[in-house]
Amino acid sequence: MRKTLDIIVPVYNEEECLSETLKRLINVRESLYTQLDVNFIFVDDGSKDKSFEILKDFSEKYPFVKVVSFSRNFGHQFAVSAGIDYSKGDYAAIIDADLQDPPELIKDMYEKATEGYQVVYGKRLKRRKETAFKKFTAFAFYRVFDALCQVKVPTDTGDFRLITREVVEAIQNMPEKHRFLRAMVPWAGFKSTPLFYDRDERFAGTTKYPLSKMLKLAADGILSFSTKPLKLIHILGVILLILSLVIFFFGLFTYPPIFLILAVIAAVFLTGAIQLFALGILGEYVGRIYEEAKDRPLYIVKEKLNI
Ligand code: UDP
Ligand code: MG
Repeated sequence: MRKTLDIIVPVYNEEECLSETLKRLINVRESLYTQLDVNFIFVDDGSKDKSFEILKDFSEKYPFVKVVSFSRNFGHQFAVSAGIDYSKGDYAAIIDADLQDPPELIKDMYEKATEGYQVVYGKRLKRRKETAFKKFTAFAFYRVFDALCQVKVPTDTGDFRLITREVVEAIQNMPEKHRFLRAMVPWAGFKSTPLFYDRDERFAGTTKYPLSKMLKLAADGILSFSTKPLKLIHILGVILLILSLVIFFFGLFTYPPIFLILAVIAAVFLTGAIQLFALGILGEYVGRIYEEAKDRPLYIVKEKLNI
């Protein structure tokens, strides 16, 4: 039987990109024709522009274009998760809709996978026309993540990758509400290898990842994969205890005692600030337990086409 590949594309307000994206994906589909049957799963993440109507047109023209449309914007990680949930293929590839990751590489990823890998992930060499801020925050995040979390996420990788059925099923069985797929995949294990590439600039439109979404993704990544921040609070408490004893004894034996009073006031403020900071970190974990306990679905589907 012929093997199948699903190409999963999360879409949020990408009306300017979609026609070109479809064109390039169809070329990839044709280039793989002798080896694989290729389907596309576009997940419309509650777009407010014409994205859904455009996808609907595609699905009427081409039976291999499948569309899942959310009832509202749930976020990129949920859109990709839905694509994985609906994937039935022997392979699944994940790619953004804005053509920053060249679709033609999916063929190279597939060829690498046939050498015996279950995960072939795109590793970025150059990032064309991305802001210095974005490059720096991405650089810093991957290093902080590596220091805090046990699971090894290769640096400078996103969600652009090809995975086999085993990995798809492993991810389908991970119901966590705060999702950071680029770490969930390595957590699941399996044999993986990089495919190096230069990241292009967005084909059209602007980023759908403002700073607030980037920060949420970074927090979800670290807090879902590490309890080290909780241990760091503990260490901070010990350091503060030692520091306050030093201040106290220093103040006790110096003259005039005004220094003692100032030191005590400073210590009280510092203690208060650190306690609130610690509570904040604790709160992040407690809030996440609360979200998990509610056990709501990850996303709500409004409409499905060709599925
Ligand atoms: N996206 C999504 N939901 C969102 C934000 C983004 O499905 O809430 C999609 C978006 O349409 C694109 C991909 O996720 O296909 C990556 O987004 P974007 O290119 O804006 O991120 P950047 O490359 O700037 O980090
Ligand atoms: Mg992009």
